[in-house]
Amino acid sequence: MDTRIRKPRSRTCELCGRQEVWSDEKGTWKIVTEDGERQVGDPHCLHEWDITGAFTPIETTDA
Ligand SMILES: [Zn+2]
Repeated sequence: MDTRIRKPRSRTCELCGRQEVWSDEKGTWKIVTEDGERQVGDPHCLHEWDITGAFTPIETTDA
């Protein structure tokens, strides 16, 4: 059975708004370009990533 490990495919910095997507070819994060503008955010930001997608590192016990 082919089990694929689900990885986060995109992430956004909660502090400066930088957006990146994962590139399988390069094996690194790429900056998202929207309307010809690269969503680089603040180059001096430490980046607080809000990982979106199927990958959830924290499980909430909200029962
Ligand atoms: Zn940032």
